[in-house]
Amino acid sequence: MDADRVRAALLSWYRHARRDLPWRATRDPYAVLVAEVMLQQTRVEQALPYYRRFLSRFPTVGHLAAADPDEVLAGWEGLGYYRRALQLHAAAREMAARYGGRVPDDEEALRSLPGIGPYTAAAVLSIAYGRPRPALDGNALRVLARLTAEAEPIDRADVRERLRRVAERLLCRDDPGGFNQALMELGATVCLPRRPRCGDCPLAPACAARAAGLADRLPRRRPRAAPAEERRVAALARDGAGRVLLGRRPPGGLLGGLWELPAAAVGGAAELARYARERWGLPLEPGPMAGELELRFSHRVWRVEVFRACAPPGLPPPREGAEYVAFAWADLEAPAAWPMPPALRRWLQENHGR
Ligand code: SF4
Repeated sequence: MDADRVRAALLSWYRHARRDLPWRATRDPYAVLVAEVMLQQTRVEQALPYYRRFLSRFPTVGHLAAADPDEVLAGWEGLGYYRRALQLHAAAREMAARYGGRVPDDEEALRSLPGIGPYTAAAVLSIAYGRPRPALDGNALRVLARLTAEAEPIDRADVRERLRRVAERLLCRDDPGGFNQALMELGATVCLPRRPRCGDCPLAPACAARAAGLADRLPRRRPRAAPAEERRVAALARDGAGRVLLGRRPPGGLLGGLWELPAAAVGGAAELARYARERWGLPLEPGPMAGELELRFSHRVWRVEVFRACAPPGLPPPREGAEYVAFAWADLEAPAAWPMPPALRRWLQENHGR
């Protein structure tokens, strides 16, 4: 493969074919960082309105660092993977405290911040600071695997390292950020996962997978385990004012920092009541079934049976090491105050008019 030709063909294609996206109009390291964190596991079209809203609400590291975590979660609600929001917030606080509110331009410093892995650090360094680092997301890896007809699974560390070295050889030293974005854009719009549009591809003359007739069969991945299913039981309790009893999950882990109906992996309503009394100090009186709810995560599915329940107006303080750091009676007419998984909010609205 002639690296100079591939690079030139890719960059020339990118100049006219690139989509006009707001994060491409800036080299502000903070805006680049927000975009990169948002785009992890989220499609561009879905992220667009959130990106604009988030940056107008928190335009600098300082604004984000000074915000309350609830505000940040509320700005993120609907995007999923809430841990990213809390980690970005924690990273902003560290940048405010240690780097004078600047996004560091040093790999080690960036990687030491919460939630910033090798890809995000490389993207920020190359796009915002012009450093020659290949940034390989799933789209870029797919293009490289096809370009080189990589036969081994790309989710293996040694294979990724091999592809990273290919990217390093191809990288444009004068415009590493542009090169990285061009490679990712080609993967997102032309070298598509199922049906690569090789006829429209600027790299077609150099592509080994295409030459071998393997384009739509590569890259390979190791077989994935089906998401683990967990059955849970939740309590739907209301007070006299129509407020709903919620528990807040601790930061980190599944649904970190979000509110949900108090729930546990138990066999039924009576068992949940016993569990709630013993583990949370919360007396619950179980009632009839209210419905079922499903919450999906990347590697797990929660199937939740919801039972009506009665609970006392005075709620217990949180217990050390329990699943909830707070209980509260929530007025769901003010949704921003109660960030929760969108599937639960929809369920509450559809089933219970709130
Ligand atoms: Fe992907 Fe086809 Fe282009 Fe090869 S020629 S990089 S398989 S779109």
